[in-house]
Amino acid sequence: MLVGYDKILELCTAFIEDNITSDFENVNLGLDFFCYPNTKEIFISVLAPATALDGFMENLLNRTDINDISTFTWSFLHEVGHCMTWSYLNERTINHCRNIKRKIDRGSIEPTVYYTLADEKMATDWALNFVKKNHRLVQRFDVNIMTEITNFYLKNEIELEG
Ligand SMILES: [Zn+2]
Repeated sequence: MLVGYDKILELCTAFIEDNITSDFENVNLGLDFFCYPNTKEIFISVLAPATALDGFMENLLNRTDINDISTFTWSFLHEVGHCMTWSYLNERTINHCRNIKRKIDRGSIEPTVYYTLADEKMATDWALNFVKKNHRLVQRFDVNIMTEITNFYLKNEIELEG
């Protein structure tokens, strides 16, 4: 059983409630970052292999000069972005994105196309915009959350690869 992740979830939940919206369901711990944007439920991961996020970070860092925010925080804000922008997508666009993602999973479309899909681009745009407008606030959150994540690793004796 992993100990101490409740503190991580608490920090993320408080950050959303204090600074973004009170209209969302909750933050849970997952094996990967994902969300249910229609019910505004977010899953964060402190165990996702760094390589799984390489493509996301490469795409994101190509679009901003901000380089002092962790992969964790960017990924978290991207999921928040999905929840915040979901209502702007129509059903046709949502279906299109889902179909292309299936084809990417099956290997018939290049993985880099993923980041150009409307839902993904809107979520990342939202995160970029939020950090641009609230840089100091996000920096403070980032320091706090990374401290908590380091404590989590230590308490559970988890060693990170690479
Ligand atoms: Zn996404």
